[in-house]
Amino acid sequence: MSVIDDVKQRLDIMQVVSEYTELQKSGRNYKALCPFHSEKTPSFFVFPDRQSWHCFGACSTGGDIFSFIMKKEGVDFGQALQILANKAGVSLVAQTTPERQTQNKERERLFEINEATAEYYHHVLLNTSKGKIARDYVTKRGLSVETIKNFQLGFAPEGWDTIKQYLKGKGCGEPELLAAGLLVERDDGNNYDRFRNRLMFPIRNIQGKALGFGGRALDDSLPKYLNSPQTSIFDKSSSLYGIDRAKTAIRQKDQIIIVEGYMDALTAHQHGFDNVVASMGTAITDKQLAILKNLTRNLILALDADTAGEEAVSRSGEMLDKMLPVPPSFYGWVRYEDAHNAEVKILVLPQGKDPDELITEDASQWQNLVTDAKPMVDFIFESVTAKVDLASAKDKSSTVERLLPLLSEMKDPLRQAHYVERLARLLKIDEHVLGDALKRFKAIERKRKATKEMKTFTSVIPTITSSSPLEQYCLALLLQYPELKAKSTALSPDHFENTESRELFVKWQQSDDIDSLKNSLDSTLQEYTESLLTKTLLPVIKENETTRHETFDDCVTRLQEKRLKSLEAKKQELLAIEAETGGIEAQLAKLEEQGLEVSKQLKEIFLKQNNRRRLSRSNGQ
Ligand SMILES: [Zn+2]
Repeated sequence: MSVIDDVKQRLDIMQVVSEYTELQKSGRNYKALCPFHSEKTPSFFVFPDRQSWHCFGACSTGGDIFSFIMKKEGVDFGQALQILANKAGVSLVAQTTPERQTQNKERERLFEINEATAEYYHHVLLNTSKGKIARDYVTKRGLSVETIKNFQLGFAPEGWDTIKQYLKGKGCGEPELLAAGLLVERDDGNNYDRFRNRLMFPIRNIQGKALGFGGRALDDSLPKYLNSPQTSIFDKSSSLYGIDRAKTAIRQKDQIIIVEGYMDALTAHQHGFDNVVASMGTAITDKQLAILKNLTRNLILALDADTAGEEAVSRSGEMLDKMLPVPPSFYGWVRYEDAHNAEVKILVLPQGKDPDELITEDASQWQNLVTDAKPMVDFIFESVTAKVDLASAKDKSSTVERLLPLLSEMKDPLRQAHYVERLARLLKIDEHVLGDALKRFKAIERKRKATKEMKTFTSVIPTITSSSPLEQYCLALLLQYPELKAKSTALSPDHFENTESRELFVKWQQSDDIDSLKNSLDSTLQEYTESLLTKTLLPVIKENETTRHETFDDCVTRLQEKRLKSLEAKKQELLAIEAETGGIEAQLAKLEEQGLEVSKQLKEIFLKQNNRRRLSRSNGQ
């Protein structure tokens, strides 16, 4: 892990930003008067889930903790890193015992409150006339009374102070209810029930203690799923729904299946697939993996066809897809497998079906998919080689180049040999030729690494999410082919989400050549630049100027698309939150306005891409 990632993992953006501006809660996120421009109503938002910030006002920009400090302190990247590393060090100082004792007491109290809440909502669902709408819903979805009882599903009825009054009657104070995330505080200091007219899923830890809740809207309310906010006992990214009910089966079967949604996990359990848990989101985090470490080493990830395809390599067969490296998340998984002697398999769901529908339709289908789940590396190999034209030497060689880094990542020589053989077979090439290519690749890698300063690993579990291969590829093209600089005007620093990439792009724009660029960079970034300068691009990029330009154009379009999509997602989320909390109308109107603008631009990008695809098809590709 790089120093940068280490600092990112240790620091929370809330902690960093709150030193500069006063944050107010707004749903799961926080808002504030923008620390960078003068304003009367807050348009500066912090997203703890993504560890990012964004100003929707005059600045219309955002980033992570590094860009925040750079902008706020007016320092360069290296100085920002120093400031934040110091902070990260301070935050690691162990807490004193009496403090911890108080904390433990507070945590126990929150568990009690959640338990009482779960019981109450469960009672409303099963036994009251108010609960009829929810009873009808779960019946329609096919859940049995046994499942409802096992998972203690509940119903939060309509009304602004149902749970508040109930728990106050049981002796709870409003501050504790706020701390448990059951109430939402308004700007004027008043508060109300967070969950209203929602089917409630208590989220428990492995010991069965209620950490928080997920609530599904039973009408058109947004968001469709609302979770408890982060509290001193609940952190969505380190929880797995159903783990308390699944742990015994996971140990017995020595296997865990990870699905995405609450309903998927419930339906699976109801049909006897009791080693299933839900990630409650898409990407699996290190913290979630840490929970599983002691239960099993065999993981199956159920991915829908779209996610799986996008994750491995998109299936469009476009030029850029054949050149982009395998996404870093897969390297993370391969390292995870190595570090824990684990095996990760991929279960690809049929197009447009989730496990819930599939199991309800025919449970044997699910059983077959589980049996047929493919080891992660096989899955990547097959996805990548599926598009290869076996008659084309160029295609074969580019495929080998893309997969060599993954092969070289494997520490177990037997495993490596197995996959060398497998790839040779898939591509119909001599195994020894491939073996030699791998040796050469490793030798080059070793040399490259030897010149690098060795970094100490602070975590044995790999970071599953890492910087974007697309951003890195684009920068590698720019650095290796200065002629492309003229085309880069279509990009702004905002198109790079990763701070290192963004910083490098800015410095590169300001420099006349590579030497002056290198001189202007902080040492951490020099290393990054070096890795991009020496990044192996496919031979066709070097040989064919047209391909080079087309590939770069493709990169630009994709980066534009990515930025607009993430902006759109952020805005949708904010709209939902503002609607949920009855927020400021002016803010809403402004967001809607910006939202429309984004939709318009996204549409243009789609049209552009469609045109290009049509063109390349008519060119006989
Ligand atoms: Zn601003």
